Amino acid sequence: MNDRTDAATLAPPGAGDERKARFEANKLSKRLHRQVGQAIADFNMIEAGDKVMVCLSGGKDSYALLDILLSLRQRAPVPFEIVAVNLDQKQPGFPEHVLPGYLTQLGVPFHIENQDTYSVVKKLIPEGQTMCSLCSRLRRGILYRVAGELGATKIALGHHRDDMVVTLLMNMFFGSRLKGMPPKLVSDDGRHVVIRPLAYVAETDLERWAEHRRFPIIPCTLCGSQDNLQRVQVKAMIREWERKYPGRIDNMLTAMGKVVPSHLMDRNLFPFTTIRAEGRPVAGGDIAFDEEPCAAPATAPLTLQPWRAAPGAAPTATED
Ligand code: SF4
Repeated sequence: MNDRTDAATLAPPGAGDERKARFEANKLSKRLHRQVGQAIADFNMIEAGDKVMVCLSGGKDSYALLDILLSLRQRAPVPFEIVAVNLDQKQPGFPEHVLPGYLTQLGVPFHIENQDTYSVVKKLIPEGQTMCSLCSRLRRGILYRVAGELGATKIALGHHRDDMVVTLLMNMFFGSRLKGMPPKLVSDDGRHVVIRPLAYVAETDLERWAEHRRFPIIPCTLCGSQDNLQRVQVKAMIREWERKYPGRIDNMLTAMGKVVPSHLMDRNLFPFTTIRAEGRPVAGGDIAFDEEPCAAPATAPLTLQPWRAAPGAAPTATED
């Protein structure tokens, strides 16, 4: 799979302006590959010899993650393995043939883990209350175990740029914490490295990619649980911001990587109680009486580096 063949298969047959659709699909393909490659390089997500367990739920994000990683692997500067894993939680109506069929057709090694967490959650959570928190906790534990059994060195999740920004805002609004969703972390059991290669990718691009690639999406409402209403509202809010002020979500994501502890209020991160004026200019020192200038234009692009290509390897997808 490569950008050229992707694009060739992306233009919907019979589209009014087939050439335009092909052009747009090609642009989208390049952008996705570039952003994922850059996130991998920036955070050293994948190293030589890694076995990456891609968690596949049947939603657009995890399909796209697997799709793009398989494509990037062909020209990656380091060799690594991919194994796709789906946890079948036994929700009523879950179409259990869809993912095995898709993965077999792709020719990618995969494992389906069958665990009836649905019944457990149904039994423990009173009717009408959201089941997601317990369900996610159970799922996490199972996936960590499976990663160990499969010998996976990295666990790849399909969270994207919008998830990361929404999480930051949720933690501020409802948790009184300046805490986001990291692109790479050590799991809470201390045994695994979890990566989010879609960290720079906009959700709207994933929606378009899923449509173009015709992924066999499995609806995520099978369990009948309501989405977290606060998360839904914050997500709608950032989409509305983006509509009115294009570039705002990217700016917020960029801000998560440019933290200035001396201009926040965390006394554990900056020694406010002991600072002294030393009579010489301080790099980045405050301009106490002036308004902070806006450092970046509203639509400043992410300044990211493509995943470096191995000598002799095919070039990485370039700028649109
Ligand atoms: S929507 Fe259903 S499957 Fe998803 S986390 Fe919530 S309870 Fe679990």
